Amino acid sequence: MIVKTYIAGPIQANNYLVYDETSKEAVLIDCSEKKQELLDDIKNLGLNVKYILLTHGHFDHVLGVNDMQKELNAPAYVDRLDIPQVENTSAIMAAFGIQVAKNPEITHFLDENENFTIADTKINILKTPGHTEGGVCYLIDDKLFSGDTLFCESVGRTDLMGGDFNKLHKSVVEVLFNLDEDITVYPGHGPSTTIGYEKKNNEIIHF
Ligand SMILES: [Zn+2]
Repeated sequence: MIVKTYIAGPIQANNYLVYDETSKEAVLIDCSEKKQELLDDIKNLGLNVKYILLTHGHFDHVLGVNDMQKELNAPAYVDRLDIPQVENTSAIMAAFGIQVAKNPEITHFLDENENFTIADTKINILKTPGHTEGGVCYLIDDKLFSGDTLFCESVGRTDLMGGDFNKLHKSVVEVLFNLDEDITVYPGHGPSTTIGYEKKNNEIIHF
């Protein structure tokens, strides 16, 4: 499984293109803008993007979703609990001093019992509330896409709508830190890390 990282959107979020070289099946994780470099790579590599999977509903991870859905002809999914985040995109962005014409529309939800795969590999959805109510991480083989739940030596903020530090702490310690230590973590912002490294070095999560 190959992972390519694209830094995109108004506050530099990581969007990840994950694909299987043999079958050409791919998934896009988070979608911050209509990014031409990403579209060119998908075309040049001959990939079939099956889904756009969102780690949570914050604007910096979902702003490109409607344009990219059209370009890729792929459905975009978010956890139902983060609908209020998506529906309040313009208002939340105004608080950050950024204007946006209209809120993204997301019509597919992760809680519909759908079985997500790339080639024959299952995409596991781990519910990790705390940064937002509907925050999730995606585990594909030995790669974890952690959104704004876990960063390299840090975690996502919990002072925005739906944030709760105790829940975030629980999600990291009880869900993520129970995963294999060799798993590579690809966060929503900043460099990648591993579960083992974060267990030793993440000073925000004392456990
Ligand atoms: Zn966020």
